[in-house]
Amino acid sequence: MLPKKTCTGCSACMSICPKNCICMTRDANGFLYPETDTKVCVNCGLCEKICPVIKEKNQEQQNHPTTYAASILNEEVRKNSSSGGIFTAVAQLITENNGIVYGAAFSEDLSVKHIGVTNTSDLDKLRRSKYVQSDLNGCFKAIKEQLENNTTVLFSGTPCQVGGLLSYLQKPYENLITLDFVCHGVPSPKVWEEYLAYQEKTYNSKITVVNFRDKSKGWKTFSVSLVFENGKNYIKGFGEDTYMKAFLSNISLRSSCYGCKYKSTNRKSDLTLADYWGIDKVNPSLDDNKGLSMVLVQSKKGAELLNKAKNNLRMTETDVTEVFPYNPCIIKSVYEHNFRQYFFNRLGKTDFQKLVNNCLSPSYLTRLRRKLIQLKGGEN
Ligand SMILES: Cc1cc2nc3c(=O)[nH]c(=O)nc-3n(C[C@H](O)[C@H](O)[C@H](O)COP(=O)(O)OP(=O)(O)OC[C@H]3O[C@@H](n4cnc5c(N)ncnc54)[C@H](O)[C@@H]3O)c2cc1C
Ligand code: SF4
Ligand code: SF4
Ligand code: SF4
Repeated sequence: MLPKKTCTGCSACMSICPKNCICMTRDANGFLYPETDTKVCVNCGLCEKICPVIKEKNQEQQNHPTTYAASILNEEVRKNSSSGGIFTAVAQLITENNGIVYGAAFSEDLSVKHIGVTNTSDLDKLRRSKYVQSDLNGCFKAIKEQLENNTTVLFSGTPCQVGGLLSYLQKPYENLITLDFVCHGVPSPKVWEEYLAYQEKTYNSKITVVNFRDKSKGWKTFSVSLVFENGKNYIKGFGEDTYMKAFLSNISLRSSCYGCKYKSTNRKSDLTLADYWGIDKVNPSLDDNKGLSMVLVQSKKGAELLNKAKNNLRMTETDVTEVFPYNPCIIKSVYEHNFRQYFFNRLGKTDFQKLVNNCLSPSYLTRLRRKLIQLKGGEN
């Protein structure tokens, strides 16, 4: 099977296996990887045939797709979305017409899983970025059944999750719409659990609500906010919160994110969304710091859906290349942090905040010690 370094955990292999002998199992770092029960496997080769990472070349850069700067007119929805609320504007067209929308939601225990939503009022569960790898929860098989039953399905996920679904389905469906986003990378669920435990211990109370994209201090200076059962609240800017510092320093991401195949403006999805980072530099008149999305139109189907949503949107055609310097994840992968392995080796064995701080701004002596361990070929 695929080396761990490149497997995205898309679960296409598990979903296709005719013998149901592949399980997605957690590794020591907390990421899900396929594991085969070799006693049941009949070596049919389907799992390898379907794997999008084996099958597909890196996305080729053709002409850049039509690009818009856009935001939803409903200000309440925009406030409660990561950027401009475009996800909701297109998703509600599906739920209002008896379709089903799949996306990432918090479960009761605050783990992140993909769920299907049929009511417009439930779309809030999917709104806002959750900076942790979402568990697809075996949803590909259910999606295939719904498509075969002529239900319209909108699937929203990371580019590799969309790649996994399309590969698993093996043929195009007119009633399927896929939506991905510009993706920095996904942190490990184990890192997320350690952060939650650290905050709950500090506040001596359970967390009931999480918002990674609290806009109360503005979209560009977004915060992480937590509500505790005891009524206390926590809010810190993305540059100060320990979990976000780890995420943005690239120490807590899945290995495949450091060599991601999906870095391109051309995707297999119908629409690609992003934060319009850099708009204050390239077109300040469009920036009110309340949230603006970039929308890349990848297909005719994507263009038609966006066109149907346009009465609920402000839209201006723009040029995606202008913001490459401000949103590099559009076209290239992030670099692995030097102390990533050291970080994961100690995760769960020491105070979470101290571990992150120590890895991100280590003292001279710590750096020297790690360098020596590295030179000796031990853990780094
Ligand atoms: C892990 C991650 C990394 C990102 N990195 C970048 C980046 O580098 N640059 C950039 O411009 N934008 C990035 N984004 C995308 C951006 O934050 C917004 O999702 C996008 O601008 C859409 O915003 P919106 O207001 O239209 O929708 P929102 O209401 O924010 O909708 C969010 C959509 O994303 C889906 N989603 C949320 N969390 C996850 C998850 N963990 N896994 C799969 N799907 C999820 C939801 O299901 C929903 O469909 C990232 C998002 C995530 C989740
Ligand atoms: S080779 Fe066939 S039976 Fe074996 S794990 Fe892969 S899909 Fe399943
Ligand atoms: S199909 Fe997806 S989960 Fe399976 S090996 Fe390939 S990338 Fe990994
Ligand atoms: S960076 Fe690439 S591999 Fe990592 S989650 Fe995003 S799309 Fe998947």
